[in-house]
Amino acid sequence: MQELTHYIDGAHVKGTSGRFADVYNPATGDVQAKVPLASPAEMNTAVEIAAKAQPAWAAVNPQRRARVMMKFVELLNRDMDKLAEALSKEHGKTMPDAAGDVQRGLEVVEYCIGAPQLLKGEYTDGAGPGIDIYSMRQALGVTAGITPFNFPAMIPMWMFAPAIACGNAFILKPSERDPSVPLMLAELMEEAGLPKGILQVVNGDKEAVDAILDHPVIQSVGFVGSTPIAEYIYGKGCSNGKRVQCFGGAKNHMIIMPDADLDQAADALVGAGYGAAGERCMAISVAVPVGDETADRLIEKLIPRIEALKVGPYTSGKDVDYGPVVTAAAKANIERLVQTGIDQGAKLVVDGRDFKLQGYEDGFFVGPHLFDHATKDMDIYTQEIFGPVLTTVRAKSYEEALAMAMDHEYGNGTAIYTRDGDAARDFANRINIGMVGINVPIPVPLAYHTFGGWKKSAFGDLNQHGPDSFKFYTRTKTVTARWPSGIKEGGEFNFKAMD
Ligand code: NAD
Repeated sequence: MQELTHYIDGAHVKGTSGRFADVYNPATGDVQAKVPLASPAEMNTAVEIAAKAQPAWAAVNPQRRARVMMKFVELLNRDMDKLAEALSKEHGKTMPDAAGDVQRGLEVVEYCIGAPQLLKGEYTDGAGPGIDIYSMRQALGVTAGITPFNFPAMIPMWMFAPAIACGNAFILKPSERDPSVPLMLAELMEEAGLPKGILQVVNGDKEAVDAILDHPVIQSVGFVGSTPIAEYIYGKGCSNGKRVQCFGGAKNHMIIMPDADLDQAADALVGAGYGAAGERCMAISVAVPVGDETADRLIEKLIPRIEALKVGPYTSGKDVDYGPVVTAAAKANIERLVQTGIDQGAKLVVDGRDFKLQGYEDGFFVGPHLFDHATKDMDIYTQEIFGPVLTTVRAKSYEEALAMAMDHEYGNGTAIYTRDGDAARDFANRINIGMVGINVPIPVPLAYHTFGGWKKSAFGDLNQHGPDSFKFYTRTKTVTARWPSGIKEGGEFNFKAMD
């Protein structure tokens, strides 16, 4: 059995806590490795090393820091296939989807190559007689991030690339479900020229997370995962005086207007609802057709598309549409929620129960499900399922569809399918959701914009990546300077306005 490690001070280090978690191959159901779960003492060691290494890294000029990012991009491209395979093997997603996971992280690294420009401060010449004011953005020191299982390459890079480009040290606590790729990324950053101790990976569970939240040296915490944990980390981190941003769960609605191109909408729903087995925070999990006629036509188009989906292991390459879910517990939770849908009266029009794949009977595969005639009080509508289950809730009017998305507690992403520019514009303006697609099913912004939901999908003031990330990982210092001519005037005791 392979025993994974932590990555501390530039080396793979065995866990010493004596606690481990199983890492599965979701396609076969086999335990393929065990990952150490750090104790607070192991976390403290990493923090001490980071605190020692960080000042010298912050003193490296931003252009040189950016060159490490440039080299890292080259290495990510070199090792793309290796990374994608390791990712698929632990997560279960298809290889092309795994390569996309790496690619979307890589694009944030590319953005961070702009650090010299992004870190430029502000300057006011002659703010008063002989007085200049300048503001600079300085690194925070030691920063940390806690990441989910569903994007084990992209989300760590969303955090550590800007943190490190800004001159911080970063401690990553990845998901214990798929920790291998984060360890590989840390190795590649050092191969790219990053000094030891600036990026460390400490594997673990709640104990390691609490050690981060309680450590007085750690200045900021980034979190992506489920909403209950996001709320816990945001509350505890903030009350311990840290800068915290937490991104939580989702229930993303797609509104399908009567004038939409329904073939296009059905194709989009199938990709956005079932891709990565629905284990995406930007997956569309609720379809809201407007009017019964639209709904009937849409369901008619969806059924054959969903029934044709190919579900299988990542080793089948491009021949599968989606793979298994991450654990047996995730599968059981999806099955439980599907049963609540049936019990509470929704109509299961594509039934993925009892899906079996020959040769992979112990894998965590879930067949595709489609519900019609669901209502807002049902668990399949109120809760995040995080599986290949699309729930249709019919609306009588555009206003009812809009209100439905607005009333839901989550506000990560949403989309509208229509040919009507006025409806699309109204929707984009009025909706209380952070990321909006107009005839685009998964509106994940590119690296140079920012990513973040509203309502119970995000806690904190700043979004991930884009310009917000450079604000999150730095603090502003403003200097007001007066040079010798002022001193010649003698002391000044009144608090004066600039004139
Ligand atoms: P999760 O909340 O179970 O775990 C996320 C991280 O928190 C992991 O590193 C885990 O070890 C840690 N953790 C788990 N339980 C903890 C506890 N009790 N105390 C402290 N830390 C704990 O989430 P997951 O299952 O890995 O990921 C799926 C969830 O993440 C979904 O809800 C999905 O919507 C969400 N997600 C959100 C975004 C976004 O940007 N909003 C992006 C990706 C995933």
